[in-house]
Amino acid sequence: MPSLEHFPWINGKFLDVEWTTWKVVGWIGNVVFFSRFFVQWYATEKRRQVVVPALFWWLSLAGSGLLLAYALFYKRDSVFIFAYAFTWIPYVRNLIIHHRHQKAQRLCPHCGFTSPPAAAYCAHCGAKLDDAPSPPGQAR
Ligand SMILES: [Zn+2]
Repeated sequence: MPSLEHFPWINGKFLDVEWTTWKVVGWIGNVVFFSRFFVQWYATEKRRQVVVPALFWWLSLAGSGLLLAYALFYKRDSVFIFAYAFTWIPYVRNLIIHHRHQKAQRLCPHCGFTSPPAAAYCAHCGAKLDDAPSPPGQAR
C-alpha cells in the first residue's frame, strides 16, 4: 500500500502513474469521453425530457478517437482496439442526421422563429409556413 502522505504525488509520480505522451493522450480521451455524460445529463435536466445534444456525439467521437489511438499505438491490445474501432460509425451517423434535421428546420418569414421540419404553422406566432409539407398519407 503506497503512502498517501503527499497525495496526489505517490512514489514521486502524479497518482503513481508513469506518465508518457500516450498516457496523457489516453487520459485526455477518458476525460473527453466521460464528459459527454455530463453534457447529456445537463441537457436532459434543462429540458426535463431525455435529450441527446450534438455535443454529446462530438465528445463521443473525439474521446473514442483518442482512446483508439492510445489502443492502436501504445497498448497494441486487440480487445481494447476492437472496443473502439467501430464506435465512430453511430457517432458520425447521428451527427449527419442531426445536421440534416437542423438544415430542414422551417424558418418563419413573419417572426424568424424556427419550427420542426414537419411543421405547417409557426410554433411561435402561428403563421402558416410556406411550402408546408403534406401530412403523411395525403397528396398535395
Ligand atoms: Zn412565426
